[in-house]
Amino acid sequence: MKTDPIRQVAFGDDENGMWLYRRFLRELEQRIPEASSHIIGASEKGEPIYGFDLGSGPVTVSLVAGAHADEPVGPNTLYRLILEIYQNPERFKAIFSRFRFLVIPHVNPDGDAANASWITRWPDPVPFFSGMKRELPGRDIEFGYPEMRPENRAATGFWEREGPADLHFSLHGMQFSEGYLLLINDEWEKRTRTWRKQFDKAMRAEGLAPHDHDRGGDKGFNYMGPGFTSTPKGKTMRDFFLSRNDAGTAAKFHMSSMEYHIGQNPETVCMVTEFPLYVIRTSPQTGTPENYLALKQDLANMSVRADKSTKDQDINRFVLQYDMHPLPLGKAMRLQRHTIRSAMELAKRCVEKSQEK
Ligand SMILES: [Zn+2]
Repeated sequence: MKTDPIRQVAFGDDENGMWLYRRFLRELEQRIPEASSHIIGASEKGEPIYGFDLGSGPVTVSLVAGAHADEPVGPNTLYRLILEIYQNPERFKAIFSRFRFLVIPHVNPDGDAANASWITRWPDPVPFFSGMKRELPGRDIEFGYPEMRPENRAATGFWEREGPADLHFSLHGMQFSEGYLLLINDEWEKRTRTWRKQFDKAMRAEGLAPHDHDRGGDKGFNYMGPGFTSTPKGKTMRDFFLSRNDAGTAAKFHMSSMEYHIGQNPETVCMVTEFPLYVIRTSPQTGTPENYLALKQDLANMSVRADKSTKDQDINRFVLQYDMHPLPLGKAMRLQRHTIRSAMELAKRCVEKSQEK
C-alpha cells in the first residue's frame, strides 16, 4: 500500500483530523459551562442534539449540519465554530451585534456513529468506500421536516422558538465531485447573480473549478450555471414519483429544511454547501461532468463485486484514473466558513434594503 498516491498527500492543516460527534460532546462539556442547557432534543437512540442561540443582531442566520451523516465536514465546521466562539467571545463581539446565530452542529448523531469506521480514518478511501452509510428516503432527515423523526422535531422546535431566519444553511457534501457546488433556493436565483460571480472567483482562487452539472430541472434541481443549482424540494420529489405512479416512494418525501424555513419566512435565503470529500479531474464539456458520471458508474459496478481485494484494487485504480485526491479537511472547513460569511453579507444587505422600503 506504500505506493498508494492518496496516502502521500500532505495534510498540513489537518493535525486534529476529522472528529466524531462524541469527541465534540467531550470538548463541549469540558470547555462550556452548563453545556447541557443547549440540548434541544434527542436522537432515536437517545443521543443529545444541541442547538445554540448566539448573538443579538438584527439578521438571523440558521446553520445546521449532519442530515446526511456520510458528509462529516459540515458538522466538523460547526463543532470548531461553536468551540471557538466560547473560547474567544471577544473576537465575536462585533459580529454578534450585527447577526444572531441559530446553530445545530449535528442533527443526526446516530448516523455519525454508523459512519465512525471510516470518519476516523479519512482520507483513506478504502474504509470510506466500504463503510459509508446513507439513510434512504423515508429515513432521510433532510426530507423529514417538520416532524418525521425525533431529530426533525428537535430542530423544528428550536427554530420555531428562536426563528424565523433570514439566512438558512444546511451544510452537506459530496463523496466526490469535479469542484465546488452550491445550491441556492429558486427564489434567490436573480438576486444572487452578482454574488455568484464573486463566489466563483473566490473558489477558483482556491483552486476549485465549478462542478458543472445541468440536470435539466430533473427532480426540481434547476441549473443556475456552472457550480450552482437550486436547493432540493420535497414537493418536487413527491410530484416526480407521483408522475411515475409511485405513491409509496412519494410519501417518503416531506419538507426539506429549506422548505421549512421558506414557510416561516418567504424571504429567507437558503443555501446548501456541497463541497466534495475527494476532488476528481474536471471534465471539459459545459453542463456535463463526464468524469463524475463515469466514476459513479464505476462505483456502482464495484459495489456488486463481492471480493474485498478486487474492490481495493478498483479504488486504487480510481485514484489514478480520475486523479482523485482528498480536499484537505482544514481547507474544506475554511471554504464552508467563507461561503457562510459571504452569504451573511448578502442577507444583511437584503434585510437592510427591505427595512428601507
Ligand atoms: Zn447531503
